[in-house]
Amino acid sequence: MRRTLFESLTHGPLTESAPRPDNAALAELAAAVENSARRRLGRGLALRQVDAGSCNGCELEIHALSNAFYDLERLGIRFVASPRHADVLLVTGPVTKNMREALERTYRATPDPKWVVAVGNCALDGGIFAGSYAVVGGVSNVVPVDLHIRGCPPSPNELLKGLIALLEQTSG
Ligand code: SF4
Repeated sequence: MRRTLFESLTHGPLTESAPRPDNAALAELAAAVENSARRRLGRGLALRQVDAGSCNGCELEIHALSNAFYDLERLGIRFVASPRHADVLLVTGPVTKNMREALERTYRATPDPKWVVAVGNCALDGGIFAGSYAVVGGVSNVVPVDLHIRGCPPSPNELLKGLIALLEQTSG
């Protein structure tokens, strides 16, 4: 115990230092999402996040989109509380048997035109939970999916790139 206390006082933190924020690249990425959304919808995107059974790692990255660094709201891209106000459902996790009906009802409650983005490796095919007795599988086993964003979890930048790809794909 004394040794641990001594080491904690004399050694620095074990966490990695934060990466240098590349503000120009982030601004470019965020502006591309906004431009694509306004071209396609005439306004900013409304996102509804649905956790269908994830470990919450993907949620942490999705939440980061709203923090002071990414600050998506300044571009008119916002998270909404109801699927009735959403353009895009961001669905995370493998779909558990308990969440299957909730996902189906959320999908039905979202007005057209709507898009479903499956976020993370679990949402693609069940990921590390594939084969579990409690899991139905990937999101596309339950509702139609327009785009998969891979990663475990995908970073906020990868999420932004995914949204641009979705908007470009649907505006063609
Ligand atoms: S993809 Fe990774 S971070 Fe996301 S829910 Fe699955 S295990 Fe968790």
